[in-house]
Amino acid sequence: MISIDEAQRIVLGSVSPLPPERVALIEALGCVLAEAVVAKIPLPPFDDSAMDGYAVAAEDTRGASRDNPRALKVAEDLPAGTAPARRVQRGTAARIMTGAPLPPGADAVVMVEETLALGRGEVEILREAEPGDNVRPAGEDIEAGVVALSPGLVLGPGELGLAAALGCATVVAIRRPSVAVLTTGSELVEPGEELKPGAIYNSNQAALAARVLSVGAKVAKCLHVEDEADAVERALRECADADIILTTGGVSVGEYDFVKVALERLGEIKFWKVLMKPGKPVAFGEVMGRPLFGLPGNPVSALVTFELLVAPALRRLAGHENCMPTTVKARLLTGLSHKPPRREYVQAVTQHGEDGYVVQPSQKRGSAMLTSTVGANSLVVIPEESTGVRAGEMVDVVLLACAGVAP
Ligand code: AMP
Ligand code: MG
Repeated sequence: MISIDEAQRIVLGSVSPLPPERVALIEALGCVLAEAVVAKIPLPPFDDSAMDGYAVAAEDTRGASRDNPRALKVAEDLPAGTAPARRVQRGTAARIMTGAPLPPGADAVVMVEETLALGRGEVEILREAEPGDNVRPAGEDIEAGVVALSPGLVLGPGELGLAAALGCATVVAIRRPSVAVLTTGSELVEPGEELKPGAIYNSNQAALAARVLSVGAKVAKCLHVEDEADAVERALRECADADIILTTGGVSVGEYDFVKVALERLGEIKFWKVLMKPGKPVAFGEVMGRPLFGLPGNPVSALVTFELLVAPALRRLAGHENCMPTTVKARLLTGLSHKPPRREYVQAVTQHGEDGYVVQPSQKRGSAMLTSTVGANSLVVIPEESTGVRAGEMVDVVLLACAGVAP
Protein backbone atom coordinates (compact mmCIF):
# COMPACT_ATOMS: atom_id res chain seq x y z
CA MET A 1 0.00 0.00 0.00
CA ILE A 2 1.39 3.44 -0.87
CA SER A 3 0.96 6.84 0.80
CA ILE A 4 -1.36 9.46 -0.65
CA ASP A 5 1.66 11.68 -1.39
CA GLU A 6 3.28 8.91 -3.40
CA ALA A 7 -0.02 8.22 -5.19
CA GLN A 8 -0.32 11.90 -6.13
CA ARG A 9 3.26 11.89 -7.44
CA ILE A 10 2.56 8.86 -9.61
CA VAL A 11 -0.65 10.40 -10.97
CA LEU A 12 0.91 13.78 -11.79
CA GLY A 13 3.91 12.05 -13.35
CA SER A 14 1.61 10.13 -15.68
CA VAL A 15 -0.27 12.99 -17.33
CA SER A 16 0.78 16.10 -19.24
CA PRO A 17 -1.09 19.10 -20.68
CA LEU A 18 -3.37 18.52 -23.67
CA PRO A 19 -2.77 20.34 -26.96
CA PRO A 20 -4.12 23.85 -27.46
CA GLU A 21 -7.09 24.67 -29.68
CA ARG A 22 -8.80 27.82 -30.89
CA VAL A 23 -12.10 28.36 -29.05
CA ALA A 24 -14.87 30.94 -28.91
CA LEU A 25 -14.53 33.18 -25.85
CA ILE A 26 -17.55 31.80 -24.01
CA GLU A 27 -16.21 28.25 -24.47
CA ALA A 28 -12.92 29.23 -22.82
CA LEU A 29 -14.10 30.04 -19.28
CA GLY A 30 -11.69 28.42 -16.80
CA CYS A 31 -9.29 27.25 -19.54
CA VAL A 32 -5.57 28.01 -19.54
CA LEU A 33 -4.45 30.43 -22.26
CA ALA A 34 -1.91 28.86 -24.64
CA GLU A 35 -1.13 31.79 -26.98
CA ALA A 36 -0.60 35.40 -25.88
CA VAL A 37 -3.33 37.91 -26.68
CA VAL A 38 -1.60 41.05 -27.99
CA ALA A 39 -3.55 44.30 -28.10
CA LYS A 40 -4.16 45.16 -31.76
CA ILE A 41 -5.82 48.41 -30.71
CA PRO A 42 -5.36 50.69 -27.70
CA LEU A 43 -8.06 50.81 -25.04
CA PRO A 44 -9.91 53.02 -25.11
CA PRO A 45 -9.35 53.26 -28.87
CA PHE A 46 -9.82 57.09 -28.82
CA ASP A 47 -10.03 59.86 -26.24
CA ASP A 48 -13.59 59.58 -24.95
CA SER A 49 -15.88 61.06 -22.35
CA ALA A 50 -16.18 59.43 -18.92
CA MET A 51 -19.43 61.30 -18.19
CA ASP A 52 -22.63 62.57 -19.71
CA GLY A 53 -22.10 66.32 -20.01
CA TYR A 54 -20.57 68.97 -22.27
CA ALA A 55 -17.26 68.81 -24.10
CA VAL A 56 -15.53 72.15 -23.78
CA ALA A 57 -12.21 73.90 -24.11
CA ALA A 58 -11.22 74.24 -20.43
CA GLU A 59 -10.07 77.78 -21.19
CA ASP A 60 -13.69 78.71 -21.95
CA THR A 61 -14.76 77.84 -18.38
CA ARG A 62 -12.23 80.01 -16.54
CA GLY A 63 -13.85 81.53 -13.47
CA ALA A 64 -17.19 79.75 -14.03
CA SER A 65 -19.21 78.96 -10.88
CA ARG A 66 -22.85 78.66 -9.83
CA ASP A 67 -22.84 82.35 -9.02
CA ASN A 68 -20.98 83.23 -12.17
CA PRO A 69 -22.15 80.82 -14.88
CA ARG A 70 -20.49 80.85 -18.27
CA ALA A 71 -22.89 80.52 -21.21
CA LEU A 72 -21.71 78.49 -24.23
CA LYS A 73 -23.42 77.72 -27.52
CA VAL A 74 -24.22 74.01 -28.00
CA ALA A 75 -22.90 73.28 -31.48
CA GLU A 76 -23.30 69.51 -31.67
CA ASP A 77 -24.88 66.48 -30.00
CA LEU A 78 -22.56 63.48 -29.52
CA PRO A 79 -24.20 60.25 -28.33
CA ALA A 80 -21.90 57.22 -27.88
CA GLY A 81 -21.13 55.65 -31.23
CA THR A 82 -21.02 58.86 -33.26
CA ALA A 83 -17.92 60.40 -34.74
CA PRO A 84 -17.64 64.18 -34.06
CA ALA A 85 -18.40 66.13 -37.22
CA ARG A 86 -16.96 69.49 -36.25
CA ARG A 87 -14.41 71.20 -34.05
CA VAL A 88 -15.48 72.75 -30.77
CA GLN A 89 -14.86 76.42 -31.44
CA ARG A 90 -14.16 78.92 -28.68
CA GLY A 91 -17.41 79.96 -27.04
CA THR A 92 -19.13 76.67 -27.95
CA ALA A 93 -19.60 73.24 -26.39
CA ALA A 94 -20.77 69.83 -27.65
CA ARG A 95 -23.35 67.85 -25.68
CA ILE A 96 -21.59 64.51 -25.12
CA MET A 97 -22.57 61.13 -23.65
CA THR A 98 -20.36 58.64 -21.78
CA GLY A 99 -18.19 56.74 -24.26
CA ALA A 100 -18.52 59.23 -27.12
CA PRO A 101 -15.26 60.45 -28.73
CA LEU A 102 -14.01 63.79 -27.50
CA PRO A 103 -14.38 66.25 -30.41
CA PRO A 104 -11.32 68.17 -31.62
CA GLY A 105 -10.96 71.54 -29.95
CA ALA A 106 -12.30 70.21 -26.63
CA ASP A 107 -9.98 69.09 -23.83
CA ALA A 108 -12.42 68.54 -20.95
CA VAL A 109 -15.95 67.39 -20.17
CA VAL A 110 -18.14 69.18 -17.64
CA MET A 111 -20.57 66.70 -16.14
CA VAL A 112 -24.23 67.41 -16.76
CA GLU A 113 -24.88 67.96 -13.04
CA GLU A 114 -22.61 71.00 -13.20
CA THR A 115 -24.42 72.61 -16.11
CA LEU A 116 -27.77 74.18 -16.79
CA ALA A 117 -29.35 73.71 -20.21
CA LEU A 118 -30.99 76.94 -21.24
CA GLY A 119 -32.95 75.60 -24.20
CA ARG A 120 -32.44 77.76 -27.32
CA GLY A 121 -29.14 75.93 -28.05
CA GLU A 122 -27.25 77.25 -25.04
CA VAL A 123 -25.85 75.82 -21.86
CA GLU A 124 -24.55 77.42 -18.69
CA ILE A 125 -21.34 75.96 -17.24
CA LEU A 126 -21.47 76.16 -13.43
CA ARG A 127 -17.91 75.14 -12.67
CA GLU A 128 -14.42 75.69 -13.92
CA ALA A 129 -12.93 72.70 -15.76
CA GLU A 130 -9.28 71.67 -15.91
CA PRO A 131 -7.88 70.19 -19.14
CA GLY A 132 -8.38 66.40 -18.99
CA ASP A 133 -11.37 66.52 -16.64
CA ASN A 134 -13.69 63.54 -17.30
CA VAL A 135 -11.71 62.54 -20.38
CA ARG A 136 -10.42 58.98 -20.78
CA PRO A 137 -7.30 59.25 -22.97
CA ALA A 138 -6.75 56.68 -25.74
CA GLY A 139 -4.58 53.80 -24.48
CA GLU A 140 -4.93 54.66 -20.77
CA ASP A 141 -6.07 51.07 -20.10
CA ILE A 142 -3.71 49.37 -22.56
CA GLU A 143 -1.57 50.56 -25.47
CA ALA A 144 -1.57 48.85 -28.86
CA GLY A 145 1.18 46.25 -29.28
CA VAL A 146 1.33 45.31 -25.60
CA VAL A 147 0.74 41.70 -24.38
CA ALA A 148 -2.70 41.87 -22.79
CA LEU A 149 -2.97 38.23 -21.68
CA SER A 150 0.05 35.93 -21.25
CA PRO A 151 0.11 32.18 -21.85
CA GLY A 152 -0.56 30.20 -18.67
CA LEU A 153 -3.24 32.59 -17.46
CA VAL A 154 -6.53 31.05 -16.35
CA LEU A 155 -9.33 32.67 -18.33
CA GLY A 156 -11.98 34.15 -16.07
CA PRO A 157 -14.73 36.67 -16.83
CA GLY A 158 -12.38 39.66 -16.71
CA GLU A 159 -9.77 38.08 -18.99
CA LEU A 160 -12.45 37.04 -21.50
CA GLY A 161 -13.93 40.53 -21.36
CA LEU A 162 -10.53 42.09 -22.11
CA ALA A 163 -10.00 39.75 -25.09
CA ALA A 164 -13.43 40.79 -26.39
CA ALA A 165 -12.69 44.49 -25.83
CA LEU A 166 -9.58 44.04 -27.98
CA GLY A 167 -11.70 42.59 -30.75
CA CYS A 168 -10.78 38.91 -30.36
CA ALA A 169 -13.69 36.55 -31.01
CA THR A 170 -11.58 33.49 -30.11
CA VAL A 171 -8.53 32.59 -28.04
CA VAL A 172 -6.07 29.70 -28.21
CA ALA A 173 -6.38 27.72 -24.99
CA ILE A 174 -5.43 24.27 -23.72
CA ARG A 175 -8.19 21.85 -24.63
CA ARG A 176 -10.66 20.97 -21.88
CA PRO A 177 -10.07 17.36 -20.73
CA SER A 178 -12.94 14.98 -21.47
CA VAL A 179 -13.89 12.37 -18.90
CA ALA A 180 -15.79 9.10 -19.26
CA VAL A 181 -17.64 8.07 -16.08
CA LEU A 182 -18.31 4.34 -15.83
CA THR A 183 -20.23 3.16 -12.77
CA THR A 184 -20.34 -0.54 -11.97
CA GLY A 185 -22.58 -2.64 -9.75
CA SER A 186 -25.46 -5.08 -10.31
CA GLU A 187 -27.22 -3.60 -7.28
CA LEU A 188 -27.62 -0.17 -8.85
CA VAL A 189 -30.63 1.34 -10.58
CA GLU A 190 -30.83 4.81 -12.08
CA PRO A 191 -32.61 7.60 -10.17
CA GLY A 192 -36.18 7.92 -11.38
CA GLU A 193 -36.56 4.17 -11.81
CA GLU A 194 -38.31 1.78 -9.43
CA LEU A 195 -36.17 0.50 -6.55
CA LYS A 196 -36.17 -3.29 -6.68
CA PRO A 197 -35.51 -5.38 -3.53
CA GLY A 198 -31.82 -5.30 -2.69
CA ALA A 199 -31.15 -2.45 -5.07
CA ILE A 200 -29.90 1.07 -4.37
CA TYR A 201 -29.78 4.13 -6.60
CA ASN A 202 -26.70 5.02 -8.60
CA SER A 203 -25.51 8.21 -6.93
CA ASN A 204 -21.88 8.17 -8.05
CA GLN A 205 -22.74 8.99 -11.64
CA ALA A 206 -24.50 12.25 -10.74
CA ALA A 207 -21.95 13.24 -8.07
CA LEU A 208 -18.86 12.52 -10.16
CA ALA A 209 -20.22 14.02 -13.36
CA ALA A 210 -21.01 17.18 -11.38
CA ARG A 211 -17.53 17.20 -9.90
CA VAL A 212 -15.96 16.77 -13.34
CA LEU A 213 -17.89 19.79 -14.65
CA SER A 214 -17.06 21.88 -11.61
CA VAL A 215 -13.31 21.51 -12.17
CA GLY A 216 -13.76 22.72 -15.74
CA ALA A 217 -13.52 19.38 -17.53
CA LYS A 218 -16.10 17.87 -19.90
CA VAL A 219 -18.17 14.73 -19.34
CA ALA A 220 -17.61 12.71 -22.52
CA LYS A 221 -20.08 9.98 -21.54
CA CYS A 222 -21.68 8.26 -18.56
CA LEU A 223 -22.06 4.48 -18.72
CA HIS A 224 -23.24 1.92 -16.23
CA VAL A 225 -22.50 -1.82 -16.22
CA GLU A 226 -23.43 -4.81 -14.13
CA ASP A 227 -20.78 -6.81 -12.32
CA GLU A 228 -19.91 -9.05 -15.21
CA ALA A 229 -16.37 -9.37 -16.50
CA ASP A 230 -17.06 -9.13 -20.24
CA ALA A 231 -19.55 -6.27 -19.81
CA VAL A 232 -17.00 -4.27 -17.80
CA GLU A 233 -14.36 -4.86 -20.44
CA ARG A 234 -16.72 -3.89 -23.28
CA ALA A 235 -17.73 -0.71 -21.46
CA LEU A 236 -14.11 0.22 -20.84
CA ARG A 237 -13.38 -0.10 -24.56
CA GLU A 238 -16.27 2.29 -25.20
CA CYS A 239 -14.54 4.85 -22.97
CA ALA A 240 -11.31 4.84 -24.96
CA ASP A 241 -12.03 8.12 -26.76
CA ALA A 242 -12.08 10.16 -23.51
CA ASP A 243 -8.91 11.75 -22.11
CA ILE A 244 -9.50 10.14 -18.71
CA ILE A 245 -11.62 7.21 -17.60
CA LEU A 246 -13.24 7.14 -14.15
CA THR A 247 -14.87 4.00 -12.86
CA THR A 248 -16.53 3.44 -9.52
CA GLY A 249 -16.88 0.19 -7.62
CA GLY A 250 -15.38 -3.16 -8.36
CA VAL A 251 -11.85 -2.41 -7.20
CA SER A 252 -11.85 -4.35 -3.93
CA VAL A 253 -10.95 -7.98 -3.46
CA GLY A 254 -14.54 -9.25 -3.75
CA GLU A 255 -15.47 -11.94 -6.21
CA TYR A 256 -17.44 -9.48 -8.31
CA ASP A 257 -14.78 -6.79 -8.46
CA PHE A 258 -14.12 -6.85 -12.18
CA VAL A 259 -12.68 -3.38 -12.75
CA LYS A 260 -9.32 -4.31 -11.34
CA VAL A 261 -9.36 -7.52 -13.38
CA ALA A 262 -10.19 -5.60 -16.57
CA LEU A 263 -7.50 -3.04 -15.81
CA GLU A 264 -4.96 -5.83 -15.55
CA ARG A 265 -6.20 -7.44 -18.76
CA LEU A 266 -6.48 -4.32 -20.93
CA GLY A 267 -3.62 -2.25 -19.57
CA GLU A 268 -1.37 -1.71 -16.64
CA ILE A 269 -1.99 -0.98 -12.94
CA LYS A 270 0.30 1.69 -11.47
CA PHE A 271 -1.10 1.44 -7.96
CA TRP A 272 -3.97 -0.17 -6.16
CA LYS A 273 -4.69 0.67 -2.54
CA VAL A 274 -3.61 3.90 -0.90
CA LEU A 275 -3.08 4.54 2.82
CA MET A 276 -6.06 6.86 3.07
CA LYS A 277 -9.49 6.90 4.65
CA PRO A 278 -11.97 6.86 3.10
CA GLY A 279 -10.80 5.46 -0.21
CA LYS A 280 -8.27 2.74 0.48
CA PRO A 281 -9.31 0.64 -2.51
CA VAL A 282 -8.49 3.04 -5.34
CA ALA A 283 -6.74 1.90 -8.48
CA PHE A 284 -4.79 3.92 -11.01
CA GLY A 285 -3.40 2.72 -14.28
CA GLU A 286 -3.65 2.94 -18.00
CA VAL A 287 -5.98 1.21 -20.42
CA MET A 288 -5.79 1.71 -24.17
CA GLY A 289 -3.33 4.54 -23.59
CA ARG A 290 -5.75 6.40 -21.31
CA PRO A 291 -5.27 7.09 -17.59
CA LEU A 292 -7.90 5.19 -15.62
CA PHE A 293 -8.92 5.88 -12.04
CA GLY A 294 -10.73 2.96 -10.45
CA LEU A 295 -12.49 4.86 -7.67
CA PRO A 296 -14.12 3.07 -4.75
CA GLY A 297 -17.86 2.36 -4.94
CA ASN A 298 -18.74 4.00 -1.65
CA PRO A 299 -20.03 7.46 -2.54
CA VAL A 300 -18.02 9.53 -0.04
CA SER A 301 -14.87 7.56 -0.86
CA ALA A 302 -15.44 8.22 -4.56
CA LEU A 303 -15.68 11.98 -3.98
CA VAL A 304 -12.66 12.13 -1.67
CA THR A 305 -10.44 10.13 -4.02
CA PHE A 306 -11.65 12.32 -6.90
CA GLU A 307 -10.56 15.41 -4.99
CA LEU A 308 -7.13 14.15 -4.06
CA LEU A 309 -6.17 12.16 -7.14
CA VAL A 310 -8.44 12.88 -10.12
CA ALA A 311 -8.80 16.67 -9.75
CA PRO A 312 -4.99 17.20 -9.75
CA ALA A 313 -4.71 15.05 -12.90
CA LEU A 314 -7.48 17.02 -14.62
CA ARG A 315 -5.78 20.30 -13.71
CA ARG A 316 -2.47 19.07 -15.12
CA LEU A 317 -4.18 17.93 -18.35
CA ALA A 318 -5.85 21.35 -18.59
CA GLY A 319 -2.44 23.03 -18.34
CA HIS A 320 -2.76 24.55 -14.86
CA GLU A 321 0.46 25.29 -13.03
CA ASN A 322 -0.96 24.63 -9.58
CA CYS A 323 -2.52 21.19 -9.69
CA MET A 324 -2.59 20.18 -6.04
CA PRO A 325 -5.59 20.89 -3.82
CA THR A 326 -5.35 24.05 -1.72
CA THR A 327 -4.62 23.35 1.95
CA VAL A 328 -5.06 25.88 4.76
CA LYS A 329 -4.75 25.81 8.55
CA ALA A 330 -7.94 26.00 10.56
CA ARG A 331 -8.98 25.72 14.21
CA LEU A 332 -10.96 22.53 14.79
CA LEU A 333 -14.33 23.16 16.47
CA THR A 334 -15.15 19.55 17.41
CA GLY A 335 -12.58 16.86 18.29
CA LEU A 336 -12.10 13.81 16.08
CA SER A 337 -10.96 10.35 17.08
CA HIS A 338 -8.50 8.51 14.85
CA LYS A 339 -6.63 5.25 14.63
CA PRO A 340 -3.33 4.93 12.72
CA PRO A 341 -2.07 4.18 10.09
CA ARG A 342 -4.19 5.76 7.32
CA ARG A 343 -4.42 9.50 6.65
CA GLU A 344 -8.05 10.44 7.09
CA TYR A 345 -10.13 13.08 5.32
CA VAL A 346 -13.31 14.18 7.11
CA GLN A 347 -16.05 16.18 5.34
CA ALA A 348 -16.26 19.62 6.94
CA VAL A 349 -17.45 23.20 6.75
CA THR A 350 -14.65 25.79 6.92
CA GLN A 351 -15.44 29.42 7.66
CA HIS A 352 -13.68 32.58 8.72
CA GLY A 353 -13.41 32.88 12.49
CA GLU A 354 -12.20 35.83 14.55
CA ASP A 355 -8.62 34.67 14.20
CA GLY A 356 -8.28 32.79 10.89
CA TYR A 357 -10.27 29.83 9.63
CA VAL A 358 -12.40 27.62 11.85
CA VAL A 359 -13.59 24.19 10.75
CA GLN A 360 -16.59 22.11 11.80
CA PRO A 361 -16.22 18.45 10.81
CA SER A 362 -19.25 16.33 9.98
CA GLN A 363 -20.27 13.96 12.76
CA LYS A 364 -21.05 11.32 10.15
CA ARG A 365 -17.84 9.73 9.00
CA GLY A 366 -19.04 6.62 7.16
CA SER A 367 -17.76 6.27 3.62
CA ALA A 368 -21.31 5.65 2.40
CA MET A 369 -22.92 8.56 4.30
CA LEU A 370 -23.59 11.12 1.60
CA THR A 371 -25.35 13.48 4.02
CA SER A 372 -21.87 14.27 5.41
CA THR A 373 -21.12 16.02 2.11
CA VAL A 374 -24.10 18.37 2.25
CA GLY A 375 -22.75 21.91 2.61
CA ALA A 376 -19.21 20.60 3.01
CA ASN A 377 -16.61 22.90 1.48
CA SER A 378 -13.50 21.19 2.81
CA LEU A 379 -11.87 18.08 4.25
CA VAL A 380 -10.16 17.97 7.65
CA VAL A 381 -6.88 16.09 7.32
CA ILE A 382 -5.99 13.76 10.19
CA PRO A 383 -2.34 12.65 9.91
CA GLU A 384 -1.49 8.95 9.58
CA GLU A 385 -0.05 8.44 13.04
CA SER A 386 -2.47 10.68 14.95
CA THR A 387 -4.47 9.14 17.76
CA GLY A 388 -7.07 11.86 17.51
CA VAL A 389 -7.34 15.64 17.33
CA ARG A 390 -8.96 17.76 20.05
CA ALA A 391 -11.26 20.72 19.67
CA GLY A 392 -9.19 23.92 19.52
CA GLU A 393 -6.22 22.32 17.79
CA MET A 394 -4.98 23.68 14.46
CA VAL A 395 -5.47 21.18 11.64
CA ASP A 396 -4.80 21.05 7.91
CA VAL A 397 -7.91 21.51 5.80
CA VAL A 398 -8.18 20.75 2.09
CA LEU A 399 -10.47 23.28 0.40
CA LEU A 400 -12.80 21.74 -2.17
CA ALA A 401 -12.21 23.62 -5.39
CA CYS A 402 -15.88 24.32 -6.17
CA ALA A 403 -16.83 25.32 -2.66
CA GLY A 404 -17.76 28.73 -1.40
CA VAL A 405 -15.00 29.52 1.09
CA ALA A 406 -14.23 33.18 0.91
CA PRO A 407 -10.46 33.67 0.92
P1 AMP B 1 -17.88 -1.91 -4.42
O1 AMP B 1 -16.57 -1.21 -4.36
O2 AMP B 1 -18.33 -2.16 -5.82
O3 AMP B 1 -17.87 -3.14 -3.59
O4 AMP B 1 -18.93 -0.92 -3.76
C1 AMP B 1 -18.80 -0.51 -2.42
C2 AMP B 1 -20.10 0.05 -1.93
O5 AMP B 1 -20.45 1.18 -2.69
C3 AMP B 1 -21.29 -0.89 -2.07
O6 AMP B 1 -22.12 -0.73 -0.95
C4 AMP B 1 -21.98 -0.43 -3.31
O7 AMP B 1 -23.36 -0.73 -3.34
C5 AMP B 1 -21.76 1.07 -3.24
N1 AMP B 1 -21.76 1.65 -4.57
C6 AMP B 1 -20.99 1.24 -5.62
N2 AMP B 1 -21.24 1.96 -6.69
C7 AMP B 1 -22.18 2.87 -6.35
C8 AMP B 1 -22.84 3.91 -7.06
N3 AMP B 1 -22.59 4.14 -8.35
N4 AMP B 1 -23.75 4.65 -6.40
C9 AMP B 1 -24.01 4.42 -5.10
N5 AMP B 1 -23.41 3.45 -4.37
C10 AMP B 1 -22.51 2.68 -4.99
MG1 MG C 1 -19.67 -3.21 -6.73
